[in-house]
Amino acid sequence: MGSDKCPSCGREYDRLAQHWAMSAACSYPTIPEPIHKMLTGLLMGDGTVQEAKSAANPRIEIHNINHSFLSWIDEQFEWLSTGVTLRRTSDDIYETNRGSSLERFASCEYSVRDQYILTTRRHPELERYVKWYDTGQKRFPRDLVLTPTILKLWYVCDGHLIWGSGGHVRPQVWVSAENERDRITYIRELFEQTPISPSFRDGRLMLTSDETEWFFEYIGRPVPGSEYKFVTESKEQYEKTKEAFYWRHTTTNST
Ligand SMILES: [Zn+2]
Repeated sequence: MGSDKCPSCGREYDRLAQHWAMSAACSYPTIPEPIHKMLTGLLMGDGTVQEAKSAANPRIEIHNINHSFLSWIDEQFEWLSTGVTLRRTSDDIYETNRGSSLERFASCEYSVRDQYILTTRRHPELERYVKWYDTGQKRFPRDLVLTPTILKLWYVCDGHLIWGSGGHVRPQVWVSAENERDRITYIRELFEQTPISPSFRDGRLMLTSDETEWFFEYIGRPVPGSEYKFVTESKEQYEKTKEAFYWRHTTTNST
């Protein structure tokens, strides 16, 4: 899980960020650009920036039920990750939901799954993501430029495939962007650098079937744990793979 080894001096530390802050010889390593791309895509989806109350640097948390997906990110992040841990068991979530009147909990397609969390180390370069919260809630930044990796990780977090009921044999990609529902022009401009120009209504990005094909060509192969979201052959195959995914890549402690 992650790595406690300082990439500069090669020694292991329980608190690497503290080592970088205090050491005369080592300082915070640079976060590679591909990792920043991953962080951006994850922040568009299930990631959140955790600002320190003190003068400490921010860290990023990624919450997901998909343990395989988080473990893969953990490997990619190396020293930047502190690892993946169980955050809330499915029993805890059931208990919370029972006390909630929110309709969407009642319509869950699958039983509640355990929630995992990946936490990064605190790092001064993560300061650039704090501005996403300038308005008090998370908003995509003005200078955001989509790339295949960014779009792929956003899709893995917040997207899915839908098949229409009336004889539609080709799927369409939908991606939820609830926090951006009032920025229709901004979202349209965001996609100018990509091969698709999806429509955006009610906080939801909707691709045509043609665009869905171009979309998958653009973002490339699935990352571990996300395979079912890339199954476009048929609705039956998608549903089957999705169900298998829930068995293989998520856990529950409910009976
Ligand atoms: Zn060191």
